[in-house]
Amino acid sequence: MTELPIAGPLPAISEIDSASLAAWLAARGEPAYRVDQVLGGAHRPEASSFDELTDLPIALRDALGRSFRFSTIVDSHVIGADGGMTAKAVHELADGQRIESVLMRYPARGAMSERTTICISSQAGCAVNCPFCATGQAGFGRQLTPGEIVDQVLHWHRPPWNALGDAREGHYNIVFMGMGEPLNNADRVFEAVRLLNDPERLGIGARHITVSTSGVVPGMDRMIDELPQVNLAISLHAATDSLRDELVPINRKWPVAAVIAAGRRFAGRTGRRVSLEYVMIDSLNDTDEQADGLLELARGWRSHLNLIPLNPTPGSRWSGTPTAGIDRFVRRLRDGGASVTVRDTRGREIDAACGQLHAQLSGRSLRDAREAAALTAPAS
Ligand code: SAH
Ligand code: SF4
Repeated sequence: MTELPIAGPLPAISEIDSASLAAWLAARGEPAYRVDQVLGGAHRPEASSFDELTDLPIALRDALGRSFRFSTIVDSHVIGADGGMTAKAVHELADGQRIESVLMRYPARGAMSERTTICISSQAGCAVNCPFCATGQAGFGRQLTPGEIVDQVLHWHRPPWNALGDAREGHYNIVFMGMGEPLNNADRVFEAVRLLNDPERLGIGARHITVSTSGVVPGMDRMIDELPQVNLAISLHAATDSLRDELVPINRKWPVAAVIAAGRRFAGRTGRRVSLEYVMIDSLNDTDEQADGLLELARGWRSHLNLIPLNPTPGSRWSGTPTAGIDRFVRRLRDGGASVTVRDTRGREIDAACGQLHAQLSGRSLRDAREAAALTAPAS
């Protein structure tokens, strides 16, 4: 059979649906059980190309390679931090767009076994334009496809990283806290979540996935119906509309009260606790007045406050709240009865916050960046 020329990039194996793959295989006279073999093989941690799926006939491996992409990521530059416990990748896609993902390992502690969290991007860039965020500063590139979202997870799953083990054991979590506003790309993000959930693929439980949003209310309501077991985090960052209009400009469309109401609907309908994220900016949103406003917003429903020390972007007009200020803020919230944690500052030395490494590498090829990093790495 002659292959028709295909315009544009080939479909990604990570996003092909089982029925289409079954039809493609049937057209080649392959038995139905090959669907599971192909999908299972492509999601095995040791596989890095179709050639390595050695339980498939060679002719089929070749045909797969001509018809599908094993990954939508064409190149990655990875740097490590925190003594190897954090690694950050800038990934280049077929059209040259760049996105980021971060791997964070947490060692076993007490009764808790080792855990890993992967932070992934949902868009190349972001249109929300939060002034403290490097991604927001760079503007919007384009939406990511479901395959481009899943392939960030597969990047860490596959050689040479093999960092994830078996998702079914529930030792790793996925957070949509990389580049982009996931609920401004809801259809593709929801499809990516379904692919990540699929037991024929990675089989990551919905409860191990968190979507973080700047407050896209219709998307939050869709999550109640379509992804009720996925965790929701809301990037609040201010308790009043006047301050939030500045820090999270989408607030002009969906103000604080509407965002909190949507969070309450989610918590009420799903029974799941919603996390309110709050970046701590020195002398801006860390005042007693904001703390009291935050207490009002968090009271009376299943919410949890997560404070994040600001990781200042280059040229930022703001700095992070000093530790003493964070402690004071936390005390005031806890005295008011709120459930509060402070997020650790993983990967600070490698600019692991949203979009920062991408900004640093702008205008350089990933290969050059890799070579420069190798030159400056300490001899081992
Ligand atoms: N767009 C979504 C998800 C990606 S941003 C959202 O805003 O929720 C993920 C988290 O990183 C958000 O809570 C965001 O406010 C935070 N963030 C962005 N820039 C940061 C910085 N410079 N320092 C600390 N946190 C930052
Ligand atoms: Fe976009 Fe989130 Fe960055 Fe705001 S913080 S610009 S919503 S990625």
